[in-house]
Amino acid sequence: MSMWLSKWAVRERGNHGGASDTATDRRHPAPRANQGRDERAASRHAVVIAGGGPTGLMLAGELALAGVDVVVVERRASRELAGSRAGGLHARTLEVLDQRGIVDRFLAQGQVAQVAGFAGVVLDLSGFPTRHPYGLGLWQNHIERILADWIDELGVNIHRGCEVVGLVQDEAGVEVALSDGTGLRAQYLVGCDGGRSRVRKAAGIDFPGWDATTSHLIAEVEMAQTPPLGIHRSGFGIHSFGRVEYEIRNGEVIYGDTGPVRVMLTEAQVGAAGEPTLEDLRAALIAVCGTDYGVHSPTWISRFTDATRQAATYRERRVLLAGDAAHVHAPDGGQGLQLGVQDAVNLGWKLAQVVKGISPDSLLDSYHAERHPVAARVLRTTMASIALRRGDERTTALRETVAELLGAEESRQRFAAMLSGLGIHYELGDGHPLLGRRMPDLDLVVADEAVRVYALLREARPVLLDFGAPGAVDIGAWADRVRVVEAGYDGAWELPALGAVTAPAAVLIRPDGYVAWVGDGSDAGLSTALSEWFGGANTA
Ligand SMILES: Cc1cc2nc3c(=O)[nH]c(=O)nc-3n(C[C@H](O)[C@H](O)[C@H](O)COP(=O)(O)OP(=O)(O)OC[C@H]3O[C@@H](n4cnc5c(N)ncnc54)[C@H](O)[C@@H]3O)c2cc1C
Repeated sequence: MSMWLSKWAVRERGNHGGASDTATDRRHPAPRANQGRDERAASRHAVVIAGGGPTGLMLAGELALAGVDVVVVERRASRELAGSRAGGLHARTLEVLDQRGIVDRFLAQGQVAQVAGFAGVVLDLSGFPTRHPYGLGLWQNHIERILADWIDELGVNIHRGCEVVGLVQDEAGVEVALSDGTGLRAQYLVGCDGGRSRVRKAAGIDFPGWDATTSHLIAEVEMAQTPPLGIHRSGFGIHSFGRVEYEIRNGEVIYGDTGPVRVMLTEAQVGAAGEPTLEDLRAALIAVCGTDYGVHSPTWISRFTDATRQAATYRERRVLLAGDAAHVHAPDGGQGLQLGVQDAVNLGWKLAQVVKGISPDSLLDSYHAERHPVAARVLRTTMASIALRRGDERTTALRETVAELLGAEESRQRFAAMLSGLGIHYELGDGHPLLGRRMPDLDLVVADEAVRVYALLREARPVLLDFGAPGAVDIGAWADRVRVVEAGYDGAWELPALGAVTAPAAVLIRPDGYVAWVGDGSDAGLSTALSEWFGGANTA
């Protein structure tokens, strides 16, 4: 099993509570709604994003592609990311990055492997109909660096070393207070500011869920003796040792011989206060392993739990939440960053259309409607995974039973599709199985040239693929917003876990790569889908 799957790590300690927390830093009181508009005239933006982690960076890229004036406010003064967080990308996240033409940047820096797994069973995706039937091992600091380079190229401004400390909404926008005493005004504010999101608290959005049942120390350290590298179970729970440098050979993680060691240990107690120290780590090593392996020189030491929470709403008028600000859970299964990046890709084009006046603001409600259930499912699966991890004999029996069930082809495919994100299905109504599912990256022929579907999505604009006779589908009044591509394709239509589906005569693809309408040879339902997703008909 790859190292990044072994991250039981996670979660910030402390209160993840929502509305009742202090909404605004007392040193930086929130601006009054009518205060300072004139002097902040130069600081107006269509969208302000609080937080430049993976979610905020991806969202900024999506908005910039749509030509929206966006600024990111990021607490960290530099791009450095302290500590180890996500260890890689799952298949659907790779597809999403492929849709924007940047997946090769990630593939060039990471290592491909089968990483989706549940109950100790690796769920091999290699038979799935996708160009990326695998995961990619790549540490989060590299993922963030590549995303930050991309949004630099797109001209996005990031205010680093500055925090969002408060907000006030009015009819027309949001006043955003910053820790340097200045403020910004935006039509919309998106909180991508992590699990302890100040934006979520200031907007009064509740964050219900489950308190921690397990706690873990995680650290990067030097050790005088080499610990047993890999994942281990003991009466304390799970612990692991790995080196920062590793290679994947024939599906196996091969650690470097030297270099810092990444340690993860289950703590005896949940709810320890204060930042963990080297002494805490040493004591935990002795308790779990009977030795501290001569641990010294930590680069960082952190603690995470399995606290599991989800924002009650992803939208409170002009404030939206995405990524960890909207959902937190244990890192088992490596899902958090994937959810955040895909939240951003679901929200980006919708928000762009709303600020440009193309769509009514009710389009933003579809963001909650589509993404909340996806994260709720991940929370449920992750809690199940944590429960199955317990070391007692009854849980071991249950884990073995679940592993056996996953041996059946249908369950294996269903779980592989779920954990890789390839099986995501937004409820867009009854009809063809493609409706609400990801568009496969087919090899098309367009004007006698070979063209991949995902190459047509690079600009994050809607595309209608017409496989019928030339001119068979007329989108007249939406022609300024939706690109029509007359395409040829005579291969199979297959979806992960579902298998073969009937070839459609036409498909309307949203900028996030999900299918909004499927044609059967007529244009029945097309104008309804066009106006639902891409604004009213242009009669000018
Ligand atoms: C140990 C560990 C292992 C993990 N392993 C995996 C894995 O293998 N796979 C996976 O998919 N996920 C994993 N995760 C989860 C993943 O790291 C998170 O889901 C991901 O970082 C969420 O991205 P985000 O941008 O939403 O939030 P964050 O990464 O938390 O980014 C939030 C950003 O906002 C900034 N910020 C905070 N408050 C403010 C403010 N008030 N104003 C301005 N800026 C602010 C922060 O500095 C930060 O840069 C792991 C997490 C941990 C802790």
